Amino acid sequence: MADITTQVLVIGTGPAGSATAALLASYGVDVMVVNRYRWLANSPRAHITNQRTMEVLRDLGAEVEHEAYLHATPKELMGNNIFCTSIAGEELGRLATWGTAPESAAEHALSSPCAMNDLPQTFMEPLLFKTACARGAQGRMSCEYLSHVQDADGVTATLRDRLTGHDLTVRAQYLVGADGGNSLVAEHAGIPLEGQMGIGGSINLLCRMDLSRYVAHRPSVLYWVMQPGSNVGGIGMGVVRMVRPWNEWLISWGYDISQPRPELTEDQAKGIIRQLVGDPDIAIDLTAISYWTVNNVYATHMQNGRVFVMGDAAHRHPPSNGLGSNTSIQDAFNLAWKLSMVLKGEAGPALLDSYSAERAPIAKQIVTRANKSIPEFGPIFAALGMDGSFDHDRIQANMDGRCDTTPAATAQRAALRQAIAHKKYEFDAHGVEMNQRYRSAAIVTDGQAEPAFARDAELHYAPTTWPGARLPHTWVYDKDGNRLSTLDLCGRGQFTLLTGIGGEAWVDAARAMGIPIRTHVIGPRRPVNDPSGDWARASEIADAGCLLIRPDHHVCWRSPDMVADPAAALNRVLTTILGK
Ligand SMILES: Cc1cc2nc3c(=O)[nH]c(=O)nc-3n(C[C@H](O)[C@H](O)[C@H](O)COP(=O)(O)OP(=O)(O)OC[C@H]3O[C@@H](n4cnc5c(N)ncnc54)[C@H](O)[C@@H]3O)c2cc1C
Repeated sequence: MADITTQVLVIGTGPAGSATAALLASYGVDVMVVNRYRWLANSPRAHITNQRTMEVLRDLGAEVEHEAYLHATPKELMGNNIFCTSIAGEELGRLATWGTAPESAAEHALSSPCAMNDLPQTFMEPLLFKTACARGAQGRMSCEYLSHVQDADGVTATLRDRLTGHDLTVRAQYLVGADGGNSLVAEHAGIPLEGQMGIGGSINLLCRMDLSRYVAHRPSVLYWVMQPGSNVGGIGMGVVRMVRPWNEWLISWGYDISQPRPELTEDQAKGIIRQLVGDPDIAIDLTAISYWTVNNVYATHMQNGRVFVMGDAAHRHPPSNGLGSNTSIQDAFNLAWKLSMVLKGEAGPALLDSYSAERAPIAKQIVTRANKSIPEFGPIFAALGMDGSFDHDRIQANMDGRCDTTPAATAQRAALRQAIAHKKYEFDAHGVEMNQRYRSAAIVTDGQAEPAFARDAELHYAPTTWPGARLPHTWVYDKDGNRLSTLDLCGRGQFTLLTGIGGEAWVDAARAMGIPIRTHVIGPRRPVNDPSGDWARASEIADAGCLLIRPDHHVCWRSPDMVADPAAALNRVLTTILGK
């Protein structure tokens, strides 16, 4: 007999674990979430929060979304990615990023009801964790996962209460390993991982210092400092990252992973900071020194029976593209509704197999993308004549050369502009963030071909209702004239059916399916109206057709028009998707 029983045990209160607990608790599932430490995130690590993640927070409730914006630095202050010789020194180039360039800003506005922002992990994690606890999750701190065994009916995990030193057992129907980049759950569950850990080293220096006079006129999240010798080892240069505008900063400095880790004293750390800031007199309050490694590892399968892994446990990569916590929260959004429906008897356990089928390809994609972004700094170094040597004078002469009137200098300037512009694949890759399309048994395409991407799929989001894609966002209006996103019509743990005038038979069919399905008829004089016609254009179906939307906003089936027997059609599709 176990000490504690719960439906789902989640290991880890990071973005992945806390989001899972918050979603499960919101869906009415009995969930326990544990953390071996007594604190939530104690450093700001993840920060770039993309639109898709904000949609998950919006799905958790307006109060959760609003609190995130309350603590976040808004998109408007994120946009000037600066390349410079030091913060006080010469600016070498600039890139408008994170949806702030005019074309990109329009694309962001058209794509989602939510805005990208900069929300340090020290705010995101407590927000998700408190939402989980407020909605009924049992949170237990200083509680360390040690091991688990699973059988046909459930999982028994052994945990250690670090306050008493006593071990306790928890019996759950499902176990979620959201225990980060050194996941024991993944190891114990035999999750297959590909790639390499520890391919680069980096030092994080967290500090308070007022840089307003150097940055407030060119607000940004990231300032890249390129000085002779800085591109040796590690992540290749000094990064000065805004944590709070403009008086809290995280400095990242690469070290050569083939050498022993440098143990910095406070004076040495401040020396590095002053060197990157370029102001020998700047007052610095150093608050933490930490170390992390660049990893290139992803799980090729994210489930073993009743055990699932998510977040960094399944995908380990550098912070480039800001995808870590975003993808972790999105993993949670994919798995939580499936666990909930299976636990409530609304779906068969086969539905859970679609989690790995859908998310493992994303794990590979984002780990590959994030690691690709590091060598893409190479052309910038090359254009500046930074050849990796420590010959300071020669490199300085190379960098200075770009200001000459010679043809070589003209070519050098062009190369630098091109190299910096290419970094939008790291700092403005809207497609990477929004184009996730699933293929699994929980998606029924009925042979409809996937629409090709008309533009670069990494840079641009391509809305479609092709089954597997996220439901496109457009603004629609309720009877009182309130503006709603099409995404607001869906989610919150339920399937949704969207149709138009002439599609009422779909609504009747949905009511007879034996699971709660929210329905909306969109059109003039209907409860939801589309006066702009934006939804009619985006829906890619006739008015009398229908879209079936999963609780995670992904279209799982569509009928281009009315069919002879809508109930039979819907029944066939739901039987497949729900694995019943
Ligand atoms: C400098 C830096 C900048 C970053 N910037 C971004 C960014 O801009 N955007 C972004 O999306 N991502 C970013 N990331 C990545 C992001 O921080 C991670 O991807 C994210 O934290 C992963 O979340 P997680 O919940 O999977 O794991 P973690 O946040 O690592 O959480 C793991 C949890 O498991 C717990 N745990 C571990 N082992 C046990 C055990 N045995 N028993 C009990 N509990 C255990 C831990 O205490 C913790 O609560 C950045 C990372 C770094 C280092």
